[in-house]
Amino acid sequence: MLDFTLTPEQIKLQEKARRFALEEVLPVAWYYDKKDEIPMPVLKKAFDAGIMNNDIPQKYGGQGLGLVESALITEEISTACPGLATSIFDSALGMEPILISDNEVAKQKYLPKIAKDFKLTAFATSEPTTGSDVAGIRCKAVPNGNDYLLSGTKYWITNGGVADYVTVFATIDPKSQHQGICCFLVETKWDGVTIGRTIPKMGQRCSNTVGINLKNVRVPKENILAPPGKGFVLAMKTFARTRPIIGSFGVGAARAAMEYAIDYAKKRKTFGFNIKDYQAIQFKLADMYQKVETARLLTWKSAWESDQGKDATISASIAKIYATETALEVANEALQIFGGYGYTKMFPIEKLLRDVRLLRIYEGTSEVQRIILSGHLLSNYQSSMPALEDLPLHREHDPLDNKSAHAGQKIWRCRICGHVHYGDEAPDECPYCFFPKSAFKEVGVA
Ligand SMILES: Cc1cc2nc3c(=O)[nH]c(=O)nc-3n(C[C@H](O)[C@H](O)[C@H](O)COP(=O)(O)OP(=O)(O)OC[C@H]3O[C@@H](n4cnc5c(N)ncnc54)[C@H](O)[C@@H]3O)c2cc1C
Repeated sequence: MLDFTLTPEQIKLQEKARRFALEEVLPVAWYYDKKDEIPMPVLKKAFDAGIMNNDIPQKYGGQGLGLVESALITEEISTACPGLATSIFDSALGMEPILISDNEVAKQKYLPKIAKDFKLTAFATSEPTTGSDVAGIRCKAVPNGNDYLLSGTKYWITNGGVADYVTVFATIDPKSQHQGICCFLVETKWDGVTIGRTIPKMGQRCSNTVGINLKNVRVPKENILAPPGKGFVLAMKTFARTRPIIGSFGVGAARAAMEYAIDYAKKRKTFGFNIKDYQAIQFKLADMYQKVETARLLTWKSAWESDQGKDATISASIAKIYATETALEVANEALQIFGGYGYTKMFPIEKLLRDVRLLRIYEGTSEVQRIILSGHLLSNYQSSMPALEDLPLHREHDPLDNKSAHAGQKIWRCRICGHVHYGDEAPDECPYCFFPKSAFKEVGVA
């Protein structure tokens, strides 16, 4: 069964998020962007409105919503400000390692607090010297009795300056790569945790990004989310559930840019006509629309797969690449439609363009997603087509006509150049590539 209909509850949630985006986020977005500051009162309002941390299961006091619902909410918030969408959704990213870990004690201790109180959780794999290469983490986890002592610097940590908790990925031995990675839930008020200055950014300035230094931070056994050897997989499983939502950031921002461009095209006149009357502009709008719609479908599919308990790693990478690259292309073309005004701070496009530029970088760059996809294609992907050397290419006779010249003859195919030979034996030498008889494979009978 295939059904794209939203349930009445999902539509209500979407409408609530849309109202929140237009009434609470849009009016403050440019002010906080200029100020380069995270609008904490808006985050608190998002929490109170129930559009944050929605995927905490009901048994821990949460709403127990799925990723499809998160995708719906995030798209709406991102139309108004992708930076604020990042700030709001980041708590779900930080919380995901707790949700999918096996540590029931940590779940019982932290999830009810996060569901009930306004508690933010950040996520920390990246470091000053490593981002894409998660296995190259250097933050050290040293066993100490039942506890661990963490030392090192995590960098680029969204919400790091305002979060109560951080899920920190570290290693017992940097040389052991994947095998050494572990994950801990760290409270930012603990001794040894120092928050760095806010990193000044090109866009998404309504989100807070900092470095976090850890000096012999004692983490009790109950806060181990993944023991050594299990942390890398936990990080990858987290990304498989969060990358579809980065796709929703892209869909929302692209949709907003498209809608602004439609409005502008209807009003701006050149050479005596509205620019909407020019096919060059109409085709730009058409391309924007098909990209937004396609990006949304890919995002929903991936979120749905995750909600069905399937491994969404591949669909999440596809959604992330397509939707984030769509956002950049659409915002860029929208700016073109605005002409010179698009390049000013008086209209909304330049901020959208700055904000969406980040989407191709965090939570795994576009290049990393392509590494994941090509790795899958070249190792696990199940082709339905036969191998090239097994292809029965009947160019020289009708395989349905058993009176044809080659009927009943063996078919031999040259593995090197593809030449098909009919006869009891393969030829001594291929007449095209001159490879010897051994290059031929019998592929059937004509
Ligand atoms: C604003 C912002 C917020 C962020 N928030 C968080 C957060 O909350 N938590 C967190 O842990 N991290 C966060 N990050 C970090 C982000 O995930 C990393 O920046 C990202 O993974 C890329 O890592 P890097 O910057 O170290 O680039 P690098 O890994 O150094 O890569 C540099 C370039 O080389 C390319 N590249 C790398 N390896 C390959 C390869 N094998 N083949 C082809 N190309 C390759 C990359 O795609 C990229 O284009 C954030 C980053 C930013 C900018």
